[in-house]
Amino acid sequence: MDKKNIGRGATILTSGNSKKFKTGSWKNRYPSHSKEKCKNCMMCVPYCPEGCIKQKDGILQGMDLNFCKGCGVCANVCPFKAIEMKEI
Ligand code: SF4
Ligand code: SF4
Repeated sequence: MDKKNIGRGATILTSGNSKKFKTGSWKNRYPSHSKEKCKNCMMCVPYCPEGCIKQKDGILQGMDLNFCKGCGVCANVCPFKAIEMKEI
């Protein structure tokens, strides 16, 4: 193989480029958020390893499923059982 034609690998050339890669297709479960049960305590927000739980003005807006990997951490930490993991 010609070494000159091998591109650079494992290199992050620009900051913030993870937004371009919609990794949410990896999951086999997704979080279903109940606005009725949610108390907007925001406990789930910092626990999400993907940072894809959105809130605005103290109100939880939901999960960005383009990036959610379906780990279920948010459902486990929610003290009000407002998030249920569902099969895709
Ligand atoms: S399932 Fe995991 S990745 Fe998806 S919103 Fe919940 S904590 Fe974040
Ligand atoms: S942890 Fe549960 S109750 Fe608190 S904001 Fe998240 S979904 Fe709502």
